[in-house]
Amino acid sequence: MPTTFASAPHAGWNFDNSYARLPAVFHTRVAPTPVAQPRLVLFNPPLARALGLDPDACAHPAAAALFTGNQLPPGAEPLAQAYAGHQYGHLARLGDGRAILLGEHLTPAGARFDIQLKGPGPTPYSRSGDGRAALGPMLREYLISEAMQALGIPTTRSLAVATTGESVFREQPLPGAVLTRVAASHIRVGTFEYFAALGDTAALRLLADHTLRRHFPERAESEQPVVALLVETIERQAALIAQWMRVGFVHGVMNTDNMALSGETIDYGPCAFIDSYDPAAVFSSIDRHGRYAFGQQPAIAAWNLARLAEALLPILHADPETALALAEEAIDSFHQRFRRHWLAALRGKLGLFTDEPDDATLAEDFLALLHQTRADYTRTFRQLHPTTDPSDPALAAWHQRWTARLTRQPQPATEVTRRMHAHNPAVIPRNHAVEAALTAATAHDLTPLQSLLPALANPYAEPGHSRLDSPPAGTPRCRTFCGT
Ligand code: AMP
Ligand code: MG
Repeated sequence: MPTTFASAPHAGWNFDNSYARLPAVFHTRVAPTPVAQPRLVLFNPPLARALGLDPDACAHPAAAALFTGNQLPPGAEPLAQAYAGHQYGHLARLGDGRAILLGEHLTPAGARFDIQLKGPGPTPYSRSGDGRAALGPMLREYLISEAMQALGIPTTRSLAVATTGESVFREQPLPGAVLTRVAASHIRVGTFEYFAALGDTAALRLLADHTLRRHFPERAESEQPVVALLVETIERQAALIAQWMRVGFVHGVMNTDNMALSGETIDYGPCAFIDSYDPAAVFSSIDRHGRYAFGQQPAIAAWNLARLAEALLPILHADPETALALAEEAIDSFHQRFRRHWLAALRGKLGLFTDEPDDATLAEDFLALLHQTRADYTRTFRQLHPTTDPSDPALAAWHQRWTARLTRQPQPATEVTRRMHAHNPAVIPRNHAVEAALTAATAHDLTPLQSLLPALANPYAEPGHSRLDSPPAGTPRCRTFCGT
């Protein structure tokens, strides 16, 4: 059993565990399994400060035990959450098999955040898994989630990665590690599916109410709160996926258990950023049919949200036919909502301030040209400039249309460039650089990783980081693995 906080100095933890107060069917109390040798390898002082924690106390050597679960912060009530999920289209009972929620920390301003350990040992939901995580995938989640945050995209965050001094076996022995994840909540589409599958309408109601109060408090008292919950979730996901597409992010495993009601990006496994523009781009080694390809993400989000709507049917409306009609109306709105967010993102990427009916065609023609020419997505947008003729002749005609469009808005070129630079990052976590940094880290050299972090923290600034602002030189697309 972990000890409660003894030797480390007071860091400012302030737990109030509303999920733990939900009935027993929602979770199982379980403590992290202490590890041999906790050692803090990455820590996030700005995030600690934002949470109202004392970064010096958190990074104190005696506090490393906290970030593997050997010690618990005061007020923690560790538990594993129950949930289900459609994985590659098939419903399964899941639950936190390699994660333990310590509780909800309240910041001095009153914001509520889940503090979760990923890789803290087995739980009743681990099935045949060991409940552990390898260092590489945990560093990967830290790196990419913090990069997403800096890109301005809603995401869970990473407070720390600590090694365990133990090996985990993933075809070969790898160094074990625990990630401390910070999230608005870990309520997933799959959490609703869990209670729907059990036929537990009372639990569904409790969960809907809990989620509304936590994420949509202004809608909790509306006339049809569950309809509001569904519609707002659809809106947040439409906005989120458009942001992913703006920066070329491929989540890689958009199962319904990896879609959060908070609207945050969650569960960084086989995710990656595209280099050359390709809607069919797939990076996950297990996604053989391209279900979660770059360009599929809006359609898959809509599919997942339809599963949420189904799960909510029993509590959407007392009359089943009305419930079905409300669910269909909500789901049907996803496409239009996504189009609106995506078009807004594209207008930003092209430096457009005004709306013209042909803007979508202008943007889509550009994307088609990028696809044809296999141009680098990030770089081409970042280097697009009204007075610089593209070197590629295929792009020249389009460039003329674009500059003509720019003359029909009042903003001068400097404003256009400023807007474009705010929507087109110079730096993204390029797969080749991330893989190299993780390989080095697994071999105990954290230097490459440490050098990526500052560049990723400032993705819209120039100049970038030499490995991050350029695509790999002639190497084939790398494959990422599920991170388990
Ligand atoms: P993920 O791939 O992280 O979305 O996980 C899918 C499901 O598998 C979740 O229920 C996890 O808790 C579970 N899982 C993944 N890795 C492990 C592991 N090493 N031990 C136990 N359960 C795991
Ligand atoms: Mg998951």
